[in-house]
Order: sequence, then C-alpha cells, then structure tokens
Amino acid sequence: MVIPYGRQDISAQDIQAVVDTLTSDWITQGPAISRFEDAIASRCGGKHAIAVSNATAALHLSCLALGVGPGDIVWTSPNTFVASTNCALYCGATVDFVDIDPRTYNLCAEKLQAKLQSAQAQGRLPKVVIAVHFAGQSCDMRAIKDLADQYDFRIIEDASHAVGGKYLDEPIGNCRYSDVVIFSFHPVKIITTAEGGMVLTRDDALAKSVRQLRTHGITSDPADMVFREPGEIWNYQQTELGFNYRMTDIQAALGASQAQRLEEFVARRHAIARRYDELLEKLPVITPWQHPDSYSGFHLYVIRLDLTKIERTHKQVYEAMRAVGVLVNIHYIPVYRQPYYEKMGFKKGYCPEAEQYYAETLSLPLFPTLTAEEQDFVVDKLGDILAIPSVASQASSDV
Ligand SMILES: *Cc1c(COP(=O)(O)O)cnc(C)c1O
Repeated sequence: MVIPYGRQDISAQDIQAVVDTLTSDWITQGPAISRFEDAIASRCGGKHAIAVSNATAALHLSCLALGVGPGDIVWTSPNTFVASTNCALYCGATVDFVDIDPRTYNLCAEKLQAKLQSAQAQGRLPKVVIAVHFAGQSCDMRAIKDLADQYDFRIIEDASHAVGGKYLDEPIGNCRYSDVVIFSFHPVKIITTAEGGMVLTRDDALAKSVRQLRTHGITSDPADMVFREPGEIWNYQQTELGFNYRMTDIQAALGASQAQRLEEFVARRHAIARRYDELLEKLPVITPWQHPDSYSGFHLYVIRLDLTKIERTHKQVYEAMRAVGVLVNIHYIPVYRQPYYEKMGFKKGYCPEAEQYYAETLSLPLFPTLTAEEQDFVVDKLGDILAIPSVASQASSDV
C-alpha cells in the first residue's frame, strides 16, 4: 500500500466538462474562464476574480499591481512554500520574514507588530505583507489589518491552502482584511485545474491592472490606449510590460466543475482531520490546534512529534513512515534556510519558532478519497514507529 499525502479527486462530471470544452470553439480565452471566475467569486465573496496559470503567477501579478519594485521590502512567514517570497524577488524587491505563532504556525501578529516598530525606527517598513493561511487556517487578519492601517502597508493573503475555508464566519477570499487574496489549484490543493491560480480583489483598479498584466500588458480598450493617429489601426496596444499568465478553457472547465464540490471537499477534509485527532490521542504527538475564529480549508494535517518521549529522531520517523508506504511530507523547511535565500545573508536561528516547528513536524496523508482503512494504516504504522526504540538506544541499553 502506498498512500500519498495529497491527491486530486476527479469525477465523471469533471471529465465530461473537460471533454465538452475540447470539442467546443474555445480551448483558451473562451467562456469557461469567466464561468470559473464567477464560480469562485460567488463562493468566496470576491468582487473581482481573475484566473491565471498558477498561484505563483497570481502572487507575482498581485505584487506588481500593488506597485512592488526595486527598493521595496515584502514580509511574509518563513513557514510557507518558496513561491510566497519568490514573487517579491521577481519584482526586484527584497524580502524579510516574521516568525510564526506556536499554535497555528501562521505568521504571528504580535511579532509582526514588534518588527514593524523597529523597522519604523530604521526607516525600513515593508510595502506589502503576505499573510499565508498555513494548512488552510486563516491568519489573525483583524490584527494584521489594524497594523496595516497604522504602518501603511498593503496585504496579500496567500490562501493557496485555504479555498473553501472561513474566517469569522465569512469565506476566505472576500478581501475584507486585505487588498488581494490568491488561491492555488495545484492537484494537491483543495480543488484543482491541474495547474492554476486565481487573484481576488474588491479594488477595481487592482483588478484591471492584474487583468492587463495577465496578458502581456496589452489592452484592447480604446479608452486605455495612449497614442493614436488618424488612419492607424490599433486593435490592441501594449502600455506596460506584462506576461502570458493565462489559464486555458480546458483547465477552467475542470475548475468550474470542481468548484461545485468545494464545500463537500472541505467538509470531508474536516471529517478526516477529526478522525485523526481521535486516533492520535494516545500517541506522543501534538495534533493541529484550531483557532475559534477559523474554519480551516484543511489542505494539510500537520502533527508535531514530542521528541522528548520518542527514542527516534524526526528524520528516522519520516524515513520509516515513507519506507512502509506512507508518504508523509514536511511543510515547511523555513524558506530562508534554502541555499538561495541563505546567499542573501539569512542565517540559521533567524526565526526560532519556525525552526523548532520544522524540527518536529510531519504532514500526514489528507485528501477526500482517503479511506478509513488507509487512515487506520497510517496511524498504526506511526504508532509502531514511535514505540520502537532506535537501534542506537537499543545498543546502549544492551551494555
Ligand atoms: C502551492 C502553493 C503556492 C504555489 O502554487 P502554484 O499554483 O503551484 O504556483 C504558493 N503558496 C503556497 C503557500 C502554496 O502552498
């Protein structure tokens, strides 16, 4: 038995939606794009929803639309995928990290406040803070928004893990506490378009900018064209440097179909998570704490090993689980520990809480089609592995 940590769930209806698109007039830039954008906006509350090729592109365009450029500073959590910070580097900005909350593993609002105070004293305030909703659980957005008003920075919510989740009983995506929210539709995420992402915003100007940057910086609206002479044909104009970050209609048709099961997928993830909570009760692990303000999207189920009660190392547990076919994962190595980021001068010890968390964390398999039998297998194997003393400690107790 091999059990991955995440896996898509594609239905016959999803397949039919893709097939229907393939035989239609449009396989890209057609009607499926706005169908998918509307499906997400109506569920997640965004005024504008803009589908793009992946969430990394969504982050890049969001940074550009917010004016991030050389000389600017973008802050985020170290406990995230590298795309959350690479997007700022693409714009020529520099990045910095705010350590995490020890219970939610999200960027900590108190540490953000302390860091803002000292950054203000040095004249080094961030232009944008990217709040990553780790594992699907919202950051403390009210506190972060209050700080944004006080210190004049903009907010991007990286909700790659959190589509279908809620914060204070409202859907994540409605931008109540931020300028922009982005989603990912990679196959391990909550709904999928194979590759895909989306930008949501309430701001008309930002939406317009993201739409134009998505397609080369080109406009076909005469009102936006900057130079016209009589007799010349301008069926489009490029007025800024953009990209080809479009999604295909094939993908959008899959996304629109998947979106119909969003609530069902998230409910199923919650049920599996609750069952893990119960099955893991007697093991020396910490199960994921849920903030009362949050209804998680539950992209990930992360546990922390209590290494004081286990005779194996973190790495031994990780390898032993994978060896028996349970493909546990690590989310995340603190971004600044990556060799590329260390070259910028970040050193081990920079965010102690994120490093402590990384040294103990394990992501267990969580996806809608995970069976009770598979889940029992995961927990049984983990129990066996945590109870077995390591070879080294056996050797020392023999003497
Ligand atoms: C998956 C992910 C991304 C990037 O998503 P892609 O769609 O693969 O580009 C960005 N941020 C976080 C937190 C992610 O988990």
